[in-house]
Amino acid sequence: MKAYKEPLYNIKGQPVCEICHVGYDKLLKHVNSRHSISANEYKERFGYHPRKGIVSQKLHAQMRSNALKNYNKVIMGNLIIGGNNNRFKEGNQMSDLEKLSELNRNRMKQKWNNIRNEKQQSKDDVLSDLIKKLSVLPKT
Ligand SMILES: [Zn+2]
Repeated sequence: MKAYKEPLYNIKGQPVCEICHVGYDKLLKHVNSRHSISANEYKERFGYHPRKGIVSQKLHAQMRSNALKNYNKVIMGNLIIGGNNNRFKEGNQMSDLEKLSELNRNRMKQKWNNIRNEKQQSKDDVLSDLIKKLSVLPKT
């Protein structure tokens, strides 16, 4: 299980930008418009959870209260009924995205090992050739 970083909040409860160290209510929006980095890129670069938003505590509370106000549509409709297909089930371990990145990591490892083995192989070949040649040389 990968541990993700929690955002740092300033005294106003705003998450602080890792690049310019200023707090913003909607940090990912700031990062996108000011630093031209997508939300996903920012979260990946600084080790934040890929599927969690980064907003101020105030905005978070406001969004939560709005969600509760519209309980039937938001929570029942979108999350409880709408989320049925991609809800965590017993035995699930990773999201498709996480699985894919693990797959790619393993592929890279495999590729790297192959290259290393080939190099080792050719070194061994050179060495055994050398030994053969030396053994053919007349003894003095
Ligand atoms: Zn910034």
